[in-house]
Amino acid sequence: MSLAIVAIGAKSTSGYRGSMSSIAVCPSCGTKNRVPVASSGRPQCASCHQPLPWLVEAGDADLDAALNTDHLVLIDLWAPWCGPCTMVAPVLQRLSVRYAGKVKVVKVNVDHNPRSSARFDAQSIPTLVMTRHGAVVDRIVGAQGEAALVARIEPLLVTR
Ligand SMILES: [Zn+2]
Repeated sequence: MSLAIVAIGAKSTSGYRGSMSSIAVCPSCGTKNRVPVASSGRPQCASCHQPLPWLVEAGDADLDAALNTDHLVLIDLWAPWCGPCTMVAPVLQRLSVRYAGKVKVVKVNVDHNPRSSARFDAQSIPTLVMTRHGAVVDRIVGAQGEAALVARIEPLLVTR
């Protein structure tokens, strides 16, 4: 009986079920690393141990797990048909590199995740919601440039 439980536990912790992780290229050494949606600590490069850009996709099923971190989370509520969302995407990519180990970027496709969309009141997109320990600390509606987003993120990092 206990053997069966061990086997189930090992299976659920090892796999992350395919799409439950993303690949991050280490900015320091170029190694490709698998970054899980949910993790207790911040991701590090397996090769050189530098902090990795932290950008994952989450949805209704795993958003709570994705937000369960001590670090600042920037949720991007977006959809593929939204032009401004497409403009913000590379900015968020750069922010995930700039704030590697400090900010976790979580992308949520509102079309596929209506509960998450309603939870964060994504009336128009892109809506960017910043959370700490699952609580909303700031929200920005509409596309913003990198400098504007940095200005909103920096004070939130100081008050941690
Ligand atoms: Zn590396």
